[in-house]
Amino acid sequence: MAKLLDGKIVRDKIEGVLKSKIQNLLAAPRLVIIQVGDNPESNTYIAQKIKFGEKIGANIKHLKLPEDVTEKTLNFNIANFNSEKSINGIIIQLPIPENLDKNQIIEAIDPAKDVDCLHSANLKKLMENNPTGLVPATTKGILTLLEHYKINPAGKHVVVVGRSSLVGKPTALAFLNLDATVTVCHSKTNHLSLITKHSDILISAVGKPGLITKNHVSPGQTVVDVGTTVVDGKLKGDVAAGEVEKIVDWISPVPGGVGPMTVASLFQNLLQAYQNQNL
Ligand code: NAP
Repeated sequence: MAKLLDGKIVRDKIEGVLKSKIQNLLAAPRLVIIQVGDNPESNTYIAQKIKFGEKIGANIKHLKLPEDVTEKTLNFNIANFNSEKSINGIIIQLPIPENLDKNQIIEAIDPAKDVDCLHSANLKKLMENNPTGLVPATTKGILTLLEHYKINPAGKHVVVVGRSSLVGKPTALAFLNLDATVTVCHSKTNHLSLITKHSDILISAVGKPGLITKNHVSPGQTVVDVGTTVVDGKLKGDVAAGEVEKIVDWISPVPGGVGPMTVASLFQNLLQAYQNQNL
């Protein structure tokens, strides 16, 4: 039976560390969360971020703009937050309405305050393995979870299923930076199960419950399930955990695996941004 990569335990440990570090700062780190519209999943994610942020003593401002906000108004707000010295981090909660130019809006954020690490300047640093850069929260959360359980990806074959700019690609790059040999799979990949079976570490970031079955895994593997899909009011991962956990060595649950790690990692990034801005 697989051992659990328990994101809640690691999240709680990070919470304690961040809380004590923040207590010793001159001012609480400040994060602005910009939301456009009223997407129910975004509301849930934002509530989780506010709850964690308040627990560790960060200062959070949630700016909720109407669905029909113009790009001009959004840019005006971002520019104000960029120039406000006491604000250390700015995030745009995705998704945003399709009529808004997502890339332009992300590029409008000061890279030094881009704690979600979506700005091209920060992604370039990730590409170059530049240690001064931030790592996107979900990717960072996966790495920290593995590190906690002493699973070292160096020299290992890591298969990442999913190639989005938000999760799959940065995660693949981050593992490459840690000296793993990385294969990236996607919806057009032929013979997915043959590739996933031959990995040491399998990361699934797709959003299709039950995609990874017992036919996709083999003994000795570590499986990290990033996928989150709400089915009949319950959160489901990509992995058919009931059958996969009988075969592999380590597995992350959904919920309680990567999700809590993503929130904690965001606030590690906020603290790092604060420190970079106050050198
Ligand atoms: P996304 O932008 O929809 O990307 C999904 C990726 O999966 C795409 O690259 C797609 O391939 C690939 N894919 C789709 N069907 C596939 C199949 N049958 N076989 C192999 N690959 C397939 O989603 P995302 O933003 O990366 O998020 C992925 C999942 O992670 C979602 O469930 C999301 O909710 C979850 N997530 C969780 C956290 C967390 O904290 N736990 C954070 C972020 C995201 P193509 O490129 O070919 O279309």
